[in-house]
Parts: sequence; C-alpha cells; structure tokens
Amino acid sequence: MTVSLDRFAQGLPDPADAKVMAECAGCGGEIYEGEDVYVINGDITHSEWECLVQYVDPEVKTIEEALK
Ligand SMILES: [Zn+2]
Repeated sequence: MTVSLDRFAQGLPDPADAKVMAECAGCGGEIYEGEDVYVINGDITHSEWECLVQYVDPEVKTIEEALK
C-alpha cells in the first residue's frame, strides 16, 4: 500500500519555502511572493502602517513649530 502525499502539496505555502521577492523599505524585512505591499515612489513596504511610517519617518512637531 502506498501513501499519497498529494494532500501535503496543498494549503498554505511553508514560509521557509516562500520565495523572497523584495526587502521592505520600512522595517527591512523580507517580502514573500503573494504578499500585499505598499508601493511609494517605486519603493516597496509591507502593507502595514508600521512599515509605512518607518519608511516615511515623519518629524513630529507642534503645529507652531511646523509653520515656522
Ligand atoms: Zn515591513
């Protein structure tokens, strides 16, 4: 009797086997195939606010300081 391995070929891909497509411009982590991303002026980040904020790296000021 042979055991079919077909069921192991389905389902979510193993992250260890997923192909790295790019590096996140925000957190610097790897972006795998099939992931959603943000594209900003040709740069790519994970589709996470955290990564976007790290990429943009805005200065936090009061409105008075910002208008000087
Ligand atoms: Zn990221």
